[in-house]
Amino acid sequence: MAYDFDLFVIGGGSAGVRCARIAAGHGARVGVAEERFWGGTCVNVGCVPKKIMVNAAEYGLWAGDAAAFGWDIENRGHDWAKLAAARDAEVARLSGIYDKLLKGAGATSFNARATFIDAHTLQVGDQRVTAERIVIATGGTAQRLDIPGAELGCISDDLFTMKALPKRVAVLGSGYIAVEFACLLRGLGAEVDLVYRAPMPLRGFDEDIRTALTEALTAQGIRLNPDVSPTRITRADDELLLGLSTNFVREVDAVFFCTGRLPNTQGLNLDAADVATKPNGAVVVDEHHATSQPHIFAIGDVIDRVNLTPMATAVGHALADTLFGGRPRQASYENVPTAVFTSPPIGTVGLTEAEAAKRGKVDIYLTRFTPMRHTISKREGRKTVMKLVVDQASQKIVGAHMLGEDAAEIMQGIGIAVVMGATKQDFDRTIGIHPTAAEEFVTLRTRAREAG
Ligand code: NDP
Repeated sequence: MAYDFDLFVIGGGSAGVRCARIAAGHGARVGVAEERFWGGTCVNVGCVPKKIMVNAAEYGLWAGDAAAFGWDIENRGHDWAKLAAARDAEVARLSGIYDKLLKGAGATSFNARATFIDAHTLQVGDQRVTAERIVIATGGTAQRLDIPGAELGCISDDLFTMKALPKRVAVLGSGYIAVEFACLLRGLGAEVDLVYRAPMPLRGFDEDIRTALTEALTAQGIRLNPDVSPTRITRADDELLLGLSTNFVREVDAVFFCTGRLPNTQGLNLDAADVATKPNGAVVVDEHHATSQPHIFAIGDVIDRVNLTPMATAVGHALADTLFGGRPRQASYENVPTAVFTSPPIGTVGLTEAEAAKRGKVDIYLTRFTPMRHTISKREGRKTVMKLVVDQASQKIVGAHMLGEDAAEIMQGIGIAVVMGATKQDFDRTIGIHPTAAEEFVTLRTRAREAG
């Protein structure tokens, strides 16, 4: 049978656009449908606008520190509208680039929703198209908790359409989005309550990093509410009342549900194509990202595996090379470096101490110090923590973790070393760059403890 397309990609986010673009470059006839915005979550309501707001919050802190370095700076406050305009212009620029890249590669883009009619046929807006292969790359959406009054609360997308900084904010959850939002809103001047059900934020991260983050959050004036769940939200005049499981009530101007995201599979009519999903809606895939239909694939947040943009683009690229480039390959889900843009930021790659200790004996190297900038600024709560987790038998670095200024930038390079299988001795023989915080990673001489 002759199909309209060799490949049809549903979703124009990081995963879908990369896959479509590379496949088209390999000569495939490619169609892509996007119903909301090109570039998906990352460009429009995720990484990009969030990072711009993180940068904005940092400038406020630096302005405060500048006096210690001799600057006479008067901080007359923050102009939310100015930041929003600059942020939105950058987002629009990048989103436009995504669409242009697709067209430049020869793919046909559709500003429309796509739904399955059968395993090879899609309804795309008012057109019906057929494709030999189909990739589902529809991403995920932030979820509110099922509590009374939840509709009064915001999700992360809403931060980017707010007309002013909410003065008092409750952030629910303590995952990536929650702690980043808490820090950036605090940095821009809001009073922030972080409300989470765990004893410490960032479940799944290394315990030393979680402890350091708890201290850093407290030091910047974020009110921590551990072991607490929200029970209801009610409106009272021009404020919101957030009920807590402790029976306390917080009076706030905004409540952000940062309590997880769910894959976007509702409304795709996956049943018509016999594509299996998990109870949370994630598409079930094998190690080649094939679904229960061998010619239909799923990539990115819709499979709910490692929900990170660079992972999604790597997988999309590898899939296109495999299907159309004559170069079968897979992106590795092991040792994925990641950062959390808190204040200060966190960078991490590989295993936590607890995960590594379950696999065997490990040596732990740990340092905690005040970075030079803050020995001068005297700003409290800006300690840097760096940690290496080393497999005792092979001396390979199996985990590297950092909380401190520039952690995200530093961890990218450390990530390469870990992916290459570097040993502690490789780190030791590397000459440090002085004076930096990063050099501590190659000068950690004394083992702090053994675990496992
Ligand atoms: P996460 O899964 O990281 O965090 C969800 C949070 O919601 C956790 O604190 C969780 O608590 C809490 N939660 C879930 N259900 C409930 C409940 N019923 N009651 C109370 N609390 C609840 O999700 P995010 O939405 O923050 O982020 C989604 C993904 O997006 C991340 O995992 C990450 O992959 C990606 N991301 C990456 C960023 C980056 O690279 N910098 C930035 C932002 C997002 P508990 O821990 O106790 O389960």
